[in-house]
Amino acid sequence: ATPMSVMVGVGKAAEAGVLIRNGEALQSASKITAMILDKTGTITEGAPQVTDILVVGERSESDVLALAASLEQGSEHPLAVSIVESAKKQGLELGKAEGFNAIAGHGVEGNVDGQALLFGNEKLMRDRDVTIDAQIGQAQAMAAKAQTPMYLAVNGRLVALIAVSDPIKQDSVAAIKRLQKDGIRVVMLTGDNRDTAKAVAEQVGIKEFFAEVLPEQKSDKVAELQQQGETVGMTGDGINDAPALALANVGFAIGTGTDVAIESADVTLMRGSLHGLADAIAISRATLRNIR
Ligand code: ADP
Ligand code: MG
Repeated sequence: ATPMSVMVGVGKAAEAGVLIRNGEALQSASKITAMILDKTGTITEGAPQVTDILVVGERSESDVLALAASLEQGSEHPLAVSIVESAKKQGLELGKAEGFNAIAGHGVEGNVDGQALLFGNEKLMRDRDVTIDAQIGQAQAMAAKAQTPMYLAVNGRLVALIAVSDPIKQDSVAAIKRLQKDGIRVVMLTGDNRDTAKAVAEQVGIKEFFAEVLPEQKSDKVAELQQQGETVGMTGDGINDAPALALANVGFAIGTGTDVAIESADVTLMRGSLHGLADAIAISRATLRNIR
């Protein structure tokens, strides 16, 4: 590629809201054969809303929501934000959490009003010997609707199941279809549970996905595809996507995502839309065709 044609390509992409860090990244983008997409905040809006509160025992829905929200005030996770916002919207009074601890990829724990709270996914409850057997069917039904179910335990006993739903970005389906038409293998990656992941993947037309991937394992999935001979693009928005973005042949960050993700990426999608991916690849392919 001549430096001039590469500069023109980078400029064209910028006009489409796609900021490519340098000429090398543009050239690599033309060779991408597989694209890994993070789910939350990349395919979806990343702004989940509480949809269901299922109480186990005598507490009210407001009580269990207030407990979960009191605990989640210590977390910046999108799931935590949705719980706190929902409680505040209802005008619930939140307590102060002591001994707060985030368990990456699983949930949170801490004490509120002298009660030991545990809030998170099925794996977290199993690890801490909280009995959830009677509620698993309901959780699976929520997940099958693409909702994310979370379990709340007080002093080791399950008291509620809270589900949130994160809408899919309006143009994700069309943007993913464009990538697939371009011959790119599209794979979804998420820390979320298998059933929820499956439902979202189906809704956006992705056949291949990795679910229940711990934050520190996301980059392993990039390496796995590279070992299969793929030139890998990775798209994400979160702090826990940063190592995967850095390892990928081309890392794409969502412009509204975290600074760490943007700094680790080669390309930033300023408009947040996944159409920027197919745009970047089309421009890069055209640039490299012209100079041959
Ligand atoms: P993702 O970024 O894909 O949501 P994470 O690894 O951050 O993946 O989280 C995986 C799962 O762990 C979530 O789907 C949720 O069930 C649970 N989890 C993580 N953080 C929290 C939290 N702050 N509150 C409740 N559950 C959480
Ligand atoms: Mg994300």
